[in-house]
Amino acid sequence: MLRAVLGRLCSRAKQAPLGIQIGRFSAAAIPAPIQRPDVQYTQLFINNEFQDAASKKTFPTINPSTGEVICHVAEADKADVDKAVKAARQAFKLGSPWRTMDASQRGVLLHRLADLIERDRTTLATLETLDNGKPYAISYTVDLDLAVKVLRYYAGWADKCHGKTIPADGDYFTYTRHEPVGVCAQIIPWNFPLLMLAWKFGPALATGNVVVMKVAEQTPLTALHVASLVKEAGFPPGVVNIIPGMGPTAGAALASHMDVDKVAFTGSTEVGRLIQQAAGQSNLKKVTLELGGKSPNIIFSDADLDYAVEQAHFALFFNQGQCCCAGSRTYVQEDIYNKFVEKSVHRAKNRIVGNPFDFKTEQGPQVDEEQFKKILGYIKTGKQEGAKLLCGGNPAADRGYFIQPTVFGDVSDNMTIATEEIFGPVMQILKFKTIEDVIERANHSMYGLAAAVFTKDLDKANYVSHSLQAGTVWVNCYDVFNAQAPFGGYKASGIGRELGEYGLEAYTEVKNVTIKVPKKNS
Ligand code: NAD
Ligand code: MG
Repeated sequence: MLRAVLGRLCSRAKQAPLGIQIGRFSAAAIPAPIQRPDVQYTQLFINNEFQDAASKKTFPTINPSTGEVICHVAEADKADVDKAVKAARQAFKLGSPWRTMDASQRGVLLHRLADLIERDRTTLATLETLDNGKPYAISYTVDLDLAVKVLRYYAGWADKCHGKTIPADGDYFTYTRHEPVGVCAQIIPWNFPLLMLAWKFGPALATGNVVVMKVAEQTPLTALHVASLVKEAGFPPGVVNIIPGMGPTAGAALASHMDVDKVAFTGSTEVGRLIQQAAGQSNLKKVTLELGGKSPNIIFSDADLDYAVEQAHFALFFNQGQCCCAGSRTYVQEDIYNKFVEKSVHRAKNRIVGNPFDFKTEQGPQVDEEQFKKILGYIKTGKQEGAKLLCGGNPAADRGYFIQPTVFGDVSDNMTIATEEIFGPVMQILKFKTIEDVIERANHSMYGLAAAVFTKDLDKANYVSHSLQAGTVWVNCYDVFNAQAPFGGYKASGIGRELGEYGLEAYTEVKNVTIKVPKKNS
């Protein structure tokens, strides 16, 4: 039975190859989730020790499938942020074990952390699904797979990120050193809790920085489990500190901290602005931001229609629609528009929504009640502004935060649902006529995170991909992520790039050392 169900999941995935390769996992390779997992780690992790918050405050973390409390977690506030930053600063002192460690050894530690995450893969995938609601088969394959790969990729960089010797004018020997920035605050969201942790830890630790990570209040559990693995892997105390807490308290305290050298943030554009302001008003710490998007997905009439329908569905609905790079403006050329809409509605109606621990489930609940209500609000606005609701539009269960896969047709560019990030399972289909028309409309957005184009015409694909203002353009595919290739946004979608060699830049200071060389040896 399990094999049959998974076979279906995998064969669907093969039809619609997720760049993320769920298709290569067989039923045998995905173990059953842990039944009633006992959550072991619920405290702040500072200086390699689990501890209560100074205030002793805790907050509940909720299972979005039921709305029930999973457990209570320590809630960091300013005092705990100060303590964690102090521990990190101490670990970063010149002459400390971390500062004197061979670069290659930092790589060994990152590999060990990846090994331990692989060892605890079932536990981590179970916790991720429990806390976030994403299907367990996806947590186990997609999230865990890429998290491990990113850590291993950056482990390899630890002793390969180096400077240059420079032929400067005069009698000088000039070279550059790539040095760590220092104490890095990392504030991450709830949509890919473990993956965002890996994206942030990898480049920071490979290059010798120390980290204070604030995890999202909706999904603290997997990061706290990883905290125990950080210690087990042998990272010196203070190098990695992980603190659950709220944005306006713990998050804001990190962004405005005078002894934090850099802040890396992933989340909403609204909070991204606050982070940059706080950095500017405090010590001008370095800022990298990975923010929202309203990514255009352009389907030309010469594209393979069924493939494009499946990919456009995946582009929007993957991860319950909670992706910063979701293909949330589906532009379809007019001569295939009706057919495309009909097939997309059919596909959305067949999307399997339900218990995320069931292997056949494609879509679990939204992460929390706030998001659930916000998405239903956008659906209401879409109807009020005259878009045509073609399917879905309502909650999909009487408890938990499930929403029916929803498709809107006849969407025009200025509607709220075509300009704002919905972050839910709500697809907007827009009609276009010409290539010039669609490029202009696609670029007419405050965002510029990702984009895609579906066509069999190579000239068209090249022309469009070079014309779009987006940090990533996918051609005849969507959501293809690799540890080796950069990701980040143009315009209000962010500052800086993550992943790949480019991802190292945000975590290194370049030092120029210039040495006088005597003309003659006297
Ligand atoms: P958010 O931006 O409020 O939260 C992201 C992280 O920032 C969390 O860790 C949060 O605690 C922290 N944070 C919040 N306020 C802060 C502050 N003042 N200072 C420092 N840190 C702060 O996102 P949200 O409220 O959970 O979701 C709202 C919307 O943001 C979503 O509907 C979606 O559109 C967008 N979002 C985008 C991403 C992404 O991957 N780019 C992820 C999550 C949410
Ligand atoms: Mg918020």
